[in-house]
Amino acid sequence: MISSKDLQWSIHRGVLEFILESSKDAHPNEMFFYLSGSFKKRVIKEVFIGPFNSSPEAVIYSPAALPVNLKIVGTAHSHPSGDLRPSNTDLESFQRFGGVHIIVGYPYDENSWRAYNMYGEPIKIKII
Ligand SMILES: [Zn+2]
Repeated sequence: MISSKDLQWSIHRGVLEFILESSKDAHPNEMFFYLSGSFKKRVIKEVFIGPFNSSPEAVIYSPAALPVNLKIVGTAHSHPSGDLRPSNTDLESFQRFGGVHIIVGYPYDENSWRAYNMYGEPIKIKII
């Protein structure tokens, strides 16, 4: 029997496309998103643009502006540099949030993204 711990995360294709396209539009500024879905089923179903400032260096992580009752399972943000590795700041916020985290980067195509667990370790996400 497979426990939920072994389940692989999956993401709806439209969600990933939205993250890539919005980040491309915002380039060279950074974008930040909240991912919502189900921890139990390990699926990312929706994405919300988070409050952020438009500096390429910094994003503000403020869940206060989100609708209530929204199940946040992680975050996504862009690296206009194209370097898809999490920064030290990213690693701190991943741990604080828990869940799953996506980094997209220039040139924002289907290969320009990586997913990480809360410890910053790369994980595979299935596109559904
Ligand atoms: Zn980052």
